[in-house]
Amino acid sequence: MQKPVIACLDLEGVLVPEIWINVAQKTGIEELKITTREMPDYDALMKRRLAILKEHSLAIADIQAVIDKMGPLEGAPAFVAWLRERCQVIILSDTFYQFALPLMRQLDFPTLFCNQLEIDPRGNILAHHMRMPNQKKHSVAAFKSLNFFTMAAGDAYNDTAMLGEADAGFFFRPPDHLPKEFPQFPVTQTYKELQMQFGKAGNLRP
Ligand SMILES: [Mg+2]
Repeated sequence: MQKPVIACLDLEGVLVPEIWINVAQKTGIEELKITTREMPDYDALMKRRLAILKEHSLAIADIQAVIDKMGPLEGAPAFVAWLRERCQVIILSDTFYQFALPLMRQLDFPTLFCNQLEIDPRGNILAHHMRMPNQKKHSVAAFKSLNFFTMAAGDAYNDTAMLGEADAGFFFRPPDHLPKEFPQFPVTQTYKELQMQFGKAGNLRP
């Protein structure tokens, strides 16, 4: 008998826009546009981002105001709803619960595994706390050990270990250089293509 299926999705770039790019546009701070696509060391990237926010006296409320207005990518809520009717869905993200909340509301609160920000009573972001290193890969490995069939989709460097660990891993709208580096993961550009790949790999009903 077929194992039950879990689909693990990256958040930014797959279901919602890049949060920091939007914050950069809104605040006019160019340096905030760097993402894991350009800088694979996420811890160093986050430390730099928090230092920039401090330099510009930006607090959590300023960032949340931007995120409130972002909204998910076009078609993302319908895609998530389609997938949740056919298998278990978990979002594995390197973002933070304080950032993701307004976006999760717009996606009807799927399960989200991510991280926490430490914020002082005035709303200043003091530090970021990653729950554990490499949570995306370890989560998929854990689901496999629980005897699930695992599928995953992501768009950036920080997803490649997760895609490699999954029984079936797919890129969704990656930057051009990434599939050249990781040719083993099929590339999808639309939710329809990703639905087809997930459907085939997980034997989901049409
Ligand atoms: Mg991403």
